[in-house]
Amino acid sequence: MAAKQTISQLLFFSSVLSAVLLQISLTFAEQLTWDDNGYLMYCPCMGRFGNQADHFLGSLAFAKMLNRTLVVPPWIVYRHHAPPYTNVHVPYSEFFQLGALWAFHRVVSLEAFMQQLAPAHWPPGDRAAYCFEAAAQRSPDRKSCPMKLSLQDGNPFGPFWDHVGVEFDRSVLFSGLSFSVYHQHHWINRFPPGEHPVLALPGAPALFPVLQEHVGLQRYVVWSSPLAQQGQQHISALLDAPYLGIHLRIGSDWQSACKLLQSGDTGPLFMASPQCVGYDRHTALPLTMDMCLPGLLEIRRALKLWVKKTSARSIYIATDSESHSQEINMLFRGKVKVVSLQPDSAQVDLYILSQADHFIGNCVSSFSAFVKRDRDIHGRPSSFFGMDVPGKIQARDEL
Ligand code: GDP
Repeated sequence: MAAKQTISQLLFFSSVLSAVLLQISLTFAEQLTWDDNGYLMYCPCMGRFGNQADHFLGSLAFAKMLNRTLVVPPWIVYRHHAPPYTNVHVPYSEFFQLGALWAFHRVVSLEAFMQQLAPAHWPPGDRAAYCFEAAAQRSPDRKSCPMKLSLQDGNPFGPFWDHVGVEFDRSVLFSGLSFSVYHQHHWINRFPPGEHPVLALPGAPALFPVLQEHVGLQRYVVWSSPLAQQGQQHISALLDAPYLGIHLRIGSDWQSACKLLQSGDTGPLFMASPQCVGYDRHTALPLTMDMCLPGLLEIRRALKLWVKKTSARSIYIATDSESHSQEINMLFRGKVKVVSLQPDSAQVDLYILSQADHFIGNCVSSFSAFVKRDRDIHGRPSSFFGMDVPGKIQARDEL
């Protein structure tokens, strides 16, 4: 009886202790202090998730280079074909752990910055936008940064800043600078944090695709627990191990993009292709149509090869269009389970692909590139349609 009471008392105290610890951590999480080294803020206004993720890695590196805290923007998700038929701004932490970025550099979410720091340190009336002189040419007076303007209808620029209630009061223009390390001191001298505490830019201070030297920053992009849990549930419920994950990027926008390759207008460095042809345009491997837009013949060939090599019992198909499940089912005569979830959230596809025993991606797609980087960090093997052994590229780059 006494022992039972002691155990229940212990349980009670441990739950109180957990609650107190949780409260302390929440308090710390909530109490942001101003960083005198300044902040870097930008709109992830180019492209969808894969593009935004490439830009995010470059921006993280740029913030560290300037020793400014990175104000981490939400992801812009374009929900124009499904409710709510508009842009959705998804906080970074819904997909990934904000805290994991701290192992590399200081960060704060845009939402927390606006709520806790902006009222005192970046108040309305005192908000400067920073942009290249060339970008200001797009504004009616040619002297203002086009923070909310674009060539179309202002989307996604206007909705992004409106979402966090930001109006810009003035513009600071610059030229002769790039985001490369070569201009590190120019940036620091031109914009000392005392005079320019918040560098707010209309777009990411980064190149697309992500530079080779920033690819490894992917290790700090760690899945959030709820997303990982959701993904794991699907994996356990639907897939028999070992499983193959494939990304079929074959929709109509992609078909048009790959036509440029066919007409010879692009060269081998086309969108995310450096991930498989190499980053140096002089030594890059040829980029073929099968790599950009694999047809059924190539999809079948690659699947046969990798199912055999990995003894896969299931295939998971992520796609922006048709899954070709039927054709793939027929190919394996029902001996391999073929699954395509077509989830509401693209991140669920990304997670399931990231965990597969082998991944076949699209070399030109930054959506595939996200998966490939994540898998590389965890030592998981990947190949591409039209290129079974991308590892050779790394060896070539290292020479
Ligand atoms: P990229 O255009 O392939 O370089 O990659 P982006 O991510 O920038 O844009 C493609 C977008 O199409 C993605 O962000 C998704 O919204 C959608 N998409 C492409 N492939 C898939 C897929 O396999 N699954 C899902 N759910 N969405 C996809």
